[in-house]
Amino acid sequence: MNAGQADAARLPIMLAELRLPTVHRLWPVFAERADKEGWPAARFLATLVEHELAERVTRRIERHRLEARLPPEKTLATFDFSAVPKVRKAHILALAAGDAWLEKGANILVFGPPGVGKSHMASALGHALVDNGYRVLFSRTVDLVQRLQVARRELALPAALAKLDKFDLLILDDISYVRKDQAETSVLFELIAERYERRSLLITANQPFSAWDSVFQDPAMTVAAIDRLVHHATIFELNVESYRRRAATRSRATASAGDNHDDNHPEGRDAPTTSETTPSPATLS
Ligand code: ADP
Ligand code: MG
Repeated sequence: MNAGQADAARLPIMLAELRLPTVHRLWPVFAERADKEGWPAARFLATLVEHELAERVTRRIERHRLEARLPPEKTLATFDFSAVPKVRKAHILALAAGDAWLEKGANILVFGPPGVGKSHMASALGHALVDNGYRVLFSRTVDLVQRLQVARRELALPAALAKLDKFDLLILDDISYVRKDQAETSVLFELIAERYERRSLLITANQPFSAWDSVFQDPAMTVAAIDRLVHHATIFELNVESYRRRAATRSRATASAGDNHDDNHPEGRDAPTTSETTPSPATLS
């Protein structure tokens, strides 16, 4: 074995120890090319390092996507903005870029009856933020509350909350399904208080604030929670007709083609009343 062969033989172990799998995979290819094309040593090294860095970013995003537990198909690509005319796509894309609002721990609140696309929109934003390098966790609120209750019983609530700190955005889907009679739901309040002005929350709800008394332990806690949530918040109200119901109506309409009266176009019947940022009195009451 000559000196070159000996070096090549030691490389896999050294590169594994340094955790450079891409250099390990690619160096023989680039070494051959460098030799053939007479690359300077610096170019050879820089090329390998560049590939390692690029793949490291890709691997990190893949890890973040897995840990985020987002519904895989609910992305911006599959979200039909025409179904929610008053949600501007440009606004959602700006939020998807992250930056300022995540840095100051601002929140997003999405209201609307069942089926209007609240979860889909939340998930789509989550996916886009993961693409942009942020860490997100999507959870049904009841599931997360349950986890935190277990932690509290084991006297580990502070540690559990601290663990959630690594997420730039916590998506709490369907907060209205939490019931205060499931003992100790004040963990939800503690989560909100803990993240206030530091880490962002995105909450979906099919009940206006006025009905949140059934979520928190007492009216004072409800007020305190809402107060913190709305202090720095973008609020979307998706008061359109259920997307599922509209899709069903559309396919029925297609099935009875030719019989295409206005009744088959629920979109035309009630104008959607979506609004951004400014909550309507109905939501705030
Ligand atoms: P919500 O959370 O408001 O109850 P979902 O987000 O679960 O509603 O939406 C219900 C179904 O309709 C899902 O399958 C979702 O993907 C689909 N959907 C809702 N709104 C849209 C939309 N604007 N574009 C594409 N699919 C949508
Ligand atoms: Mg939902």
